[in-house]
Amino acid sequence: MKTLLSLILLSTAVPAAAIPIEQLKTDTKVLASDAFEGREPGSPGETKTIDYLVKRMTEIGLKPGNNGQWTQDVPTVSITTAPTPLQIAGGKAPMTLAYGPDQVVWTKRQTAEQALVNSPIVFIGYGINAPDRDWNDYEGMDVRGKTVVMLVNDADWWAPTSGKDAGPFNGKEQTYYGRYILKFEEAVRQGAAAAIIIHQEVPAAWPYSVVTSTWTGPQVDLDSPDKGMGRLAVEGWLSLDAAKRLFASAGLDLLALEKAAGQRGFRAVETGLTASTKLENTIARSNSKNVVGIIPGAKRPDETVLVTAHWDHIGRCTPDASGDDICNGALDDAIGTAGLLAIAADVMKGPRPERSIAFLAVTGEEAGLLGSEYYARNPVFPLAKTVGGVNMDVLNVFGKMDGFTIIGAGQSELEAIATRLATAQGRRILPEDTPQNGFYFRSDHFSLARRGVPMLFGRGGGEVIGKPPGFGLAAQANYVAKQYHTPSDEYSDDWDWAGALQDLDMFRDFSLDLANRKDWPNWLPSSEFRAIRDASRKTAP
Ligand SMILES: [Zn+2]
Repeated sequence: MKTLLSLILLSTAVPAAAIPIEQLKTDTKVLASDAFEGREPGSPGETKTIDYLVKRMTEIGLKPGNNGQWTQDVPTVSITTAPTPLQIAGGKAPMTLAYGPDQVVWTKRQTAEQALVNSPIVFIGYGINAPDRDWNDYEGMDVRGKTVVMLVNDADWWAPTSGKDAGPFNGKEQTYYGRYILKFEEAVRQGAAAAIIIHQEVPAAWPYSVVTSTWTGPQVDLDSPDKGMGRLAVEGWLSLDAAKRLFASAGLDLLALEKAAGQRGFRAVETGLTASTKLENTIARSNSKNVVGIIPGAKRPDETVLVTAHWDHIGRCTPDASGDDICNGALDDAIGTAGLLAIAADVMKGPRPERSIAFLAVTGEEAGLLGSEYYARNPVFPLAKTVGGVNMDVLNVFGKMDGFTIIGAGQSELEAIATRLATAQGRRILPEDTPQNGFYFRSDHFSLARRGVPMLFGRGGGEVIGKPPGFGLAAQANYVAKQYHTPSDEYSDDWDWAGALQDLDMFRDFSLDLANRKDWPNWLPSSEFRAIRDASRKTAP
């Protein structure tokens, strides 16, 4: 409490300028134009986007952020795993799990072939090892060379309420431990050969069709010095129906296993089954780019505040009824990238901040936060001396809001700053509508957060001022249902910019607040990122 209070009292008052609206509109319109072809990494649209961003950052007066360069190369690899069945033995009868309806498996190892031969199958509960929560699904089980099959989300997603007292993993709210990436990483640490996650629609927050649309075909990932050999031999998803059949063939009941896995003291179960498959890969390598411009700090230039947005989108996609096949990504995230430029331009008009502010437009968000992940692994500015920052992914064009929602609230001291600034705008702070969806883990700030850098992610919430109750929520739902990742996410002259301006004003003041203070806002003691940050800060030069 003391820390939070002192943060509020110590903050520096910053005169609010005005975000340049006409330029913001122009930048959004250009980035979202058909000429940019939906800004897919590796496409001609990437070249146009990078050129435009460098031109605009130069005009604004930023300095090239990467040791005199405007860009950071992000090496990527695309692996296409041929559709392959999974053979199960050791049960009542041999089983073949079909590629697509039953399972989707792949390998991130950059080899032409990767095999799994009679690998013993273990039910590993939620596949979580969380020392800070005194929870280890691997306790007492040697999984080396084995195939671990696990549940999606974390061990108390089914709880009716959220919060620290609602369960070991904050109840209904999804925690970091519920993320599938972390589950695969933990399986690697435990020496498993393969990890397969059982899909369930409610705790996954999306239908099984997303597995077959997202994890099939070419899979773009960061290229790595170890050529992916540090990954599992096989990763994948299993449909709920296939999982039920799989366990039934071993005389086990998935429902009973699931129940046990949600209880403290759960022990993993050897199923007596084995898995075999042979994956064949086609591999292609390419390069994309992050763009970074900087305002060097006047007093402590070696301390950096980050403002991030992803410039990329999904490029050409399934045509709509009119034949339009360009997914323009106007709201996702041309507008956030334009917002980043607008904040930079606005800060440049005022006195130089004490700390440096880096404006980082990242690539590959849509392929899995690749540009931000690459940056976090290869930071231009040491993470130990990166104070924190704000990420923008989709801005509000439905009007001025009476509230502000911090995504993934309850984690860091940045929230006190955001709360003060939003309150000063006359807004109330509102909880997330769907904390169970884990939105904090789904955009670029998370690549930094998981390495300890406190990052704010939030947006206008509540009601649109001057509109009937529910207008904003309906507009948002309509965007998700009809425009999100389709050719109709296009620039519109009908947008109401007041909400975007409100958030951008706040994010600018937030960045300046971080840049002009002397202390280091941290994660709260209860946050899973606190220990990571404390260890990282000790390495600061
Ligand atoms: Zn996005």
